[in-house]
Amino acid sequence: MKKIWESTRDKEVSKTASEAILKGLSEEGGLFVMRDLEQAHLDVEKMLDMSYQEIAISILRILLDDFSDEEIAMCVNKAYDHRFRDAAITPLTLIGDDAILELFGGPTSAFKDIGLSLLPQLMSTALKKSQSDDDILILTATSGDTGKAALEGFKDADRIKIIVFYPFGKVSAVQQAQMQTQEGKNLAVCALRGNFDDAQNGIKQLFVDESFKKSLKQRHIALSSANSINIGRLIPQMVYYFYAYIELVRKHKIKMGEAINFVVPTGNFGNILAGYYAKLLGLPVHKFIVAANNNNVLYDFINTGVYDRNRDFLKTISPSMDILISSNLERLLYYLSDKDNKLVKELMEQLKEQGRYEVSKALLEKIQEHFSAGYATDKETSDTIKKVYEKYGYLLDTHTAVAYRVMQKKKEEGYMHVVLSTASPYKFTQSVYASLYGKTHEDEFLLMEKLHQKTKAEIPLNLSELNKKAILHDKCIDKKDMKQYILETLEEIK
Ligand SMILES: *Cc1c(COP(=O)(O)O)cnc(C)c1O
Repeated sequence: MKKIWESTRDKEVSKTASEAILKGLSEEGGLFVMRDLEQAHLDVEKMLDMSYQEIAISILRILLDDFSDEEIAMCVNKAYDHRFRDAAITPLTLIGDDAILELFGGPTSAFKDIGLSLLPQLMSTALKKSQSDDDILILTATSGDTGKAALEGFKDADRIKIIVFYPFGKVSAVQQAQMQTQEGKNLAVCALRGNFDDAQNGIKQLFVDESFKKSLKQRHIALSSANSINIGRLIPQMVYYFYAYIELVRKHKIKMGEAINFVVPTGNFGNILAGYYAKLLGLPVHKFIVAANNNNVLYDFINTGVYDRNRDFLKTISPSMDILISSNLERLLYYLSDKDNKLVKELMEQLKEQGRYEVSKALLEKIQEHFSAGYATDKETSDTIKKVYEKYGYLLDTHTAVAYRVMQKKKEEGYMHVVLSTASPYKFTQSVYASLYGKTHEDEFLLMEKLHQKTKAEIPLNLSELNKKAILHDKCIDKKDMKQYILETLEEIK
């Protein structure tokens, strides 16, 4: 077996894809990367008559070195089925001169569904390949969206259990209902008194708690996470960049070989990095445009070369992008520094110790060759939702509206632009409704119905039927009781 995955921070680490998927993060803290990624060239023209699933299979074959073709096909076909609203999986819509790639048609109406539908399949398959007989327990803290997408993805997965913690009273009514009504034999959801950081820190402590891990070991269980730095979540996201490109060719909007721009609402840098990976494999892309909200750390970095997280954390109407540390940026630094593991390690240590680092002028120029960046304020975002709706009758969610506004600011003549749309407008109904018709304090479910009556935009079934479903998980605990809760819950879930 070739072991082609190394760590961004240590060249000597070498793993197969299935080992990297099961581990998630390398032991010394680095992320798993494939050194010779750009040598594996994909023929985009051959994809012209491929379905989404076929494109996925051809990409996964290159990156998952120890998976058989049959295993890959099985994983892909199980992940992307009728649970996605559209047979295209990520449909492309044309608006004016631009295109919008809708990534939110999955089982929980979140863009996270794309990665979290395939990751469990890949993990189950990787488990079969491993020498260990242990089952896996996934522990996840969520500020809202990731938890639900992970629960739905891992529901009834072979040899894997999942427990999700969310901060009590800190997620939206819709998100809470999504989690409390989750069905499945191998899972549990629990509210935690405190905020998201409390939940996240609680879990981080458990990952290094030797007595806890020993108790799990006695039950033949190993810990893992469904975090967005796992290559099993990142690789599936490369697929829709190829799909969008092929769709534009099929719709006669571009010629095969013509370079285009992608505009990506960015938080942890996973989505946009998957696009850069697609470019490394041969997709004709001119620029990736990073779209940020007022938490514009990345905007500053791409313009100045200084990454500085020492600033206030701002709450915005695009909460999934309220992030000050974009973990996946580490992988970009690795590739653009000509795979200089030592440099990456140094920069990441500076980030940890001083909250800041600066890259050389040469490295900054390389970054700017492929990336540009813009940001939008909450006011601009709201105005954009209203203007786009009035002009085209198309409803944007707040995250997509950030990207749309940034596209307007950074648009380059002569290039087709694709805006990645990461959420259904009904996932952020309060803000979307307020942007169009002014503030109200009505119940979120009533407001969904009202927004639908006014705009006629379809409400995804998985959201509209939520308040009719039975509540199955209503526990709320203190952080200090997490360990005991997990050990007790493991007796109940299969
Ligand atoms: C997670 C998320 C993002 C950010 O994606 P990254 O891969 O973290 O950059 C943007 N929008 C929505 C709605 C999300 O859920």
